[in-house]
Amino acid sequence: MTRPTYREIAPYRADPRPCAIDLSDNTNLWGAAPSATRVLRSAGNASLARYPEPYSETLKDALARYAGVSSSMIVTGCGSDDVLDSTIRACAEPGDAVAMVDPTFVMIPQLARANGLHVVRIPVGADADVDVERLTAANAAITYVCSPNNPTGRSVPRSDIQTIVERARGVVIVDEAYVEFQGYSAVDLVSGNARVVVARTMSKAFGLAGARVGYAIANPELIVEIEKARGPFKVASHAADAATAALDTDVDWVRARVGDAIESRERVASALREIGLAPLASNSNFVFVPIANSAAIASAMRTRDVAVRPFAGVPTFGDALRITIGPWELMEPALAALREAIAECA
Ligand code: PMP
Repeated sequence: MTRPTYREIAPYRADPRPCAIDLSDNTNLWGAAPSATRVLRSAGNASLARYPEPYSETLKDALARYAGVSSSMIVTGCGSDDVLDSTIRACAEPGDAVAMVDPTFVMIPQLARANGLHVVRIPVGADADVDVERLTAANAAITYVCSPNNPTGRSVPRSDIQTIVERARGVVIVDEAYVEFQGYSAVDLVSGNARVVVARTMSKAFGLAGARVGYAIANPELIVEIEKARGPFKVASHAADAATAALDTDVDWVRARVGDAIESRERVASALREIGLAPLASNSNFVFVPIANSAAIASAMRTRDVAVRPFAGVPTFGDALRITIGPWELMEPALAALREAIAECA
């Protein structure tokens, strides 16, 4: 009954059990941008009977001001998952390839396969660095590069992104889901190159994962094609209003929380080193910690009410945990749970 391509795609499943300290999904553990919450609290239900703006024009204006581009260079979506999916569908035919580093964002192979594409994986180097030569030699219709990369937390140097953009044959997607933690962006590469798409989200630094608002920045001609693949009415009215308020009012709040996350991250990294682990230097709001037996350790932490994300058999690094960074009050008990889990699994 279903497309053969779909059979190998496993549905995304998250652990449904409630958890006191959830460090598994890289969301903002300081909470949501405050004006977004205010907008949602005061929202009446009059607008619920009508459709939202078809392509979230008001939200686009706010995103354009925030990103320093024109509104015609923005496409929005139901999370950046939706924007990535639409971009892949707009820019590649079934049978084409998506080239990406391994490891990277787990949804990319899923979205590629769902759109009939195959995936070329280029393992990261010893320092989690991108092999630009091999990535571009794949000659793929779409080259995906994530900076900072999920799950390694490592930024891709701007010069590498520039080289990828110059050498890649097809469209280059630069995923900047965690850009606020990185301090530099590839957005300026868009104006000089019709094939660059920078994907971003309100789910991380802005703390609006539940609102499901993502966006991408590209040349206006390409935006129109991505919007055709996306379809109208993808962002709910209240989600768009909440995100617009956050962009207009809460940028200083976001910057302050980014500072908090970086401070907490460095404290966590040194605590991890003290217990003999070697977290990768992170440019994001999570740390990647190579550790044998990561699934068992994550599960022992889960029984202590702490959720982290285990990875198995990662190229170059083997097993690892990805730990989202939150306020120190959450990280302290999480580190205690990790120490106990390591002792239990030894
Ligand atoms: N890109 C990356 C690199 C991510 O880590 C995530 C979320 N985990 C997304 C995109 C998707 O974010 P959302 O759909 O919530 O906007």
